[in-house]
Amino acid sequence: MLTLYGAGIGKGIAIGRAFVMQRSAVEIPQYSIQASEIGSEVDRFQKALEDTRIQLREIESQIPADAPPESKSFIEVYLLMLKDPLIEQQPAETIREKLCNAEWALRKHSKALVDTFDRMQDPYLREKKNDVRQITSRIQDNLLHIPKQSTTAHPGQLEGRVVISHDLSPADTVQFKNQNIMGFVTDLGGPTSHTAILARSLKIPAVVGLHGATRYIRHDEVVIVDGKRGAIVMGADEGVLDRYRERQAYVIRRKRELDELRDAEPVTRDGQTVKLLANVELPDDMRAAQRSRAQGVGLFRTEYLFMNRTEPPSEQEQFSAYSQVVRRMKSSVTIRTLDLGADKQVDGGRSEDPTNPALGLRAVRLCLHEPGLFKPQLRAVLRASALGPVQVVVPMLSSLNELDQVFDMIAETKEELRQRGEDFDEEIPIGGMVEVPAAAVSADLFARRLDFLSIGTNDLIQYTLAIDRVDDTVNYLYDPLHPSVLRLIKLTIDAGEKAGIPVTMCGEMAGDARYTKLLLGMGLKIFSMDPTSIPEVKRKILEADLRRLPDEAEKIMACGDGNAIRDMVVAMEKL
Ligand code: PEP
Ligand code: MG
Repeated sequence: MLTLYGAGIGKGIAIGRAFVMQRSAVEIPQYSIQASEIGSEVDRFQKALEDTRIQLREIESQIPADAPPESKSFIEVYLLMLKDPLIEQQPAETIREKLCNAEWALRKHSKALVDTFDRMQDPYLREKKNDVRQITSRIQDNLLHIPKQSTTAHPGQLEGRVVISHDLSPADTVQFKNQNIMGFVTDLGGPTSHTAILARSLKIPAVVGLHGATRYIRHDEVVIVDGKRGAIVMGADEGVLDRYRERQAYVIRRKRELDELRDAEPVTRDGQTVKLLANVELPDDMRAAQRSRAQGVGLFRTEYLFMNRTEPPSEQEQFSAYSQVVRRMKSSVTIRTLDLGADKQVDGGRSEDPTNPALGLRAVRLCLHEPGLFKPQLRAVLRASALGPVQVVVPMLSSLNELDQVFDMIAETKEELRQRGEDFDEEIPIGGMVEVPAAAVSADLFARRLDFLSIGTNDLIQYTLAIDRVDDTVNYLYDPLHPSVLRLIKLTIDAGEKAGIPVTMCGEMAGDARYTKLLLGMGLKIFSMDPTSIPEVKRKILEADLRRLPDEAEKIMACGDGNAIRDMVVAMEKL
């Protein structure tokens, strides 16, 4: 039996057969060939192309007829790319001219193609580089005779399996929403990466940042994923499997107990009302939001509508997605404008740009830079506001100047809609996410101009402590209780209070029941989280007495010692 540890997500246990999706990057060999070997080397290259074509058609034929159209369209894109002269013809030319091996010739041209896409202005075309990488790595696998464990599984193949992958992008993970997978394990990644956030919303246990997962876990072997301990167990005997089955049953029992609180109002023992809202990624998540009795949508991460497709969704398509959410949630829906960039790329994969994408053209910066992407979204959101209470929240604000530009764009969009005779809420509330320390420090300035603030702790912690949230090597430093983080949260809550506007928290910290009482003590009254976290947070609220919490919170805020803070937060949980 072998147990490996990483960062756990979710409290559950999954027991199932492994589906190994990706191997770690392989070394591409480089060697010279004799002139007499040119013919056989070119043949070898062409056979690898043909094998790749056959494999793609095979995957296509296995996709069920009722699968979403996107599941087929990526195969069509790959088949088209196989016909690109830089992939189909140029490598053969290079083999002839440079007398080099096929793998190296292919690498040279695929790199040129990746670089070409990478330089493009249009974010959709830029993301095509990930398709080039996918397709060329398939050809390389065929050249190197690497057994195909499939890098792109069709939906049915993953049903009931534990997915093991070197890395999963949010774009990959969001596709799991339609597939009944049991759990997943990745070599890379941190617990607040978007991939991990999606695992939580899928209600499946996962372990990320488990280096060597793809090396040690064999395709098809039975594995246990323990989300709470962040462990994966291989080669377990019946006795161990039984113990895990018992724990699985315990987790289910506990969940049922919490479900009994479903209809209770989130009110503290001393009668203070708290709001519990849901974070959603796709309209389908509304089922979970309604089941957990969320009192509204506090964060609709619209960027997921833009992933796994070749073109951005049209205004009409976006309007239809936003309307579905608004119609299903009678209370307020907060739609966040596009937060693409950093780890959320339209076609998955990580940016290989050597500059740090988390500090680059992301979120509101990207939207202001690409009005062609931003305006249709604003029109769609505004139109949805005619159907029910909608608020707009803008991600990653760092200066008031950006806010001015956003206001201008919204004003222009409203005018366009008036001209078109479309209905919308003229008074639609506009809020800002506080996720950059600059915004938290100036929260009072932002609060004067906005209708509400929403604290995005995932990014706020990343940027305050200078820790990339997807980099597991620095993950041990990721600390929601760091005094600097707590002070920025407090500054924001107080600024909102002073300006008389609501302050929500929608980062993962809001859904972590260990921090509920501390946040209540700091003055937070609106929490937005993955719907699965609502019952546990609600239980803490029902137990809490707000008359006792602010003093404790103040003591914690005044303490600079991390261990003492942790002990005090644990003690506070019992209040
Ligand atoms: C956050 O940063 O806390 C947040 C809610 O936004 P996201 O996780 O989508 O970056
Ligand atoms: Mg964020």
